[in-house]
Amino acid sequence: MAKKRTLSPETISAQAAHQTDALTGGVIPAIHPSSTFVRDKNYQLINSRHGYGRDENPGFAIAERVLAQLEGAPAALLFSSGMAAATTVLQTLKPGDHIVAPRVMYWGLRNWLIKFCDQWGLGLDLFDPTKPDAIASSVRKGQTKLVWIESPCNPSWDVIDIAAASKIAHHAGARLVVDSTVSTPVLTQPVKHGADLVLHSATKYLNGHCDIVAGALVTAKEDAFWENVCALRVDAGAILGSFEAWLLQRGMRTLFLRVRKASESALTLAEHFDGHARLEAVIYPGLPSHPGFEIAKRQMDGGFGGMLCLQVKGGAKGALNVAKRCKVFIRATSLGGVESLIEHRYTIEGEGSPVPRDWLRLSIGIESVDDLIADLEQALE
Ligand SMILES: *Cc1c(COP(=O)(O)O)cnc(C)c1O
Repeated sequence: MAKKRTLSPETISAQAAHQTDALTGGVIPAIHPSSTFVRDKNYQLINSRHGYGRDENPGFAIAERVLAQLEGAPAALLFSSGMAAATTVLQTLKPGDHIVAPRVMYWGLRNWLIKFCDQWGLGLDLFDPTKPDAIASSVRKGQTKLVWIESPCNPSWDVIDIAAASKIAHHAGARLVVDSTVSTPVLTQPVKHGADLVLHSATKYLNGHCDIVAGALVTAKEDAFWENVCALRVDAGAILGSFEAWLLQRGMRTLFLRVRKASESALTLAEHFDGHARLEAVIYPGLPSHPGFEIAKRQMDGGFGGMLCLQVKGGAKGALNVAKRCKVFIRATSLGGVESLIEHRYTIEGEGSPVPRDWLRLSIGIESVDDLIADLEQALE
């Protein structure tokens, strides 16, 4: 008897897990914009799963099934943004609970966490992601409910050992949440390393075309905690639009091609500019000089991601001058699209930002890497 082959994630991604349109036979699934659903003469819903647009949408389920399979997890949930996904997890906490998170992480979430924890009576410890013992010394057994990590951390690209963080979190009785926006399931499947929840800003690589704002959570277990998260999305209403969910299922079909190309080009570019006379440093987890290199080699599979920073000689002015002279790289915030972006992160984050003023953050797209290198070469002249 033939052994049942499991499909590779690339196949699942390209075919949206073989989900087609049952009603028409369309190869591509339909969009369901309806905000409300019909009841029959006996006042029964025609389809018992669907009553009102905030509860469920057939289109969400399509993208959620693909993402869950790519992460090797039982379930995923879409949200109206990465921040909505993150803040939904935090809404499960009670006053007195404690959270541990890295000092360098997505700045919007770090700023929100600091405010939210103060307002809602939650304890918060921000640890140094470059110090391997920092998580263990920050958790409080019984009180810490969430250990929140990002890997690689945006924008220092510090790599956190997910398996080690998971052991520490579980020993303390906490859940481990991994923001895997930068790694994507192509390079790391955090659930396999012991994560309880995985967060994505689907605005970035998952969609990959800079044309939607969306978020997602993936769970290792469909337990009571997860049910609470599902209920919070419905009750608090942080749902995605039906068109955005449809664009996301389309974007994910090319995820593997996009992420692999971006990773390959980012490594070529990082190696090319490492040691350049106009740069202090190239910050990329794929360079042996990066403190996260050894963990990245173990934890990231098939590449080191498409994100890096250049530390430019001449301070903020030197960095801004390089950004000014770029003709191929587009000056804009965000990441994970098919077009390469360059940004002066300190300007975006402003006063109090831990990001050095002489850093430029690059999100590498899928263009010819020769064009990207030539653009930076002329900008650095
Ligand atoms: C962008 C981003 C977020 C926030 O996601 P939104 O979709 O903008 O709400 C969270 N984490 C990381 C790492 C991000 O890059």
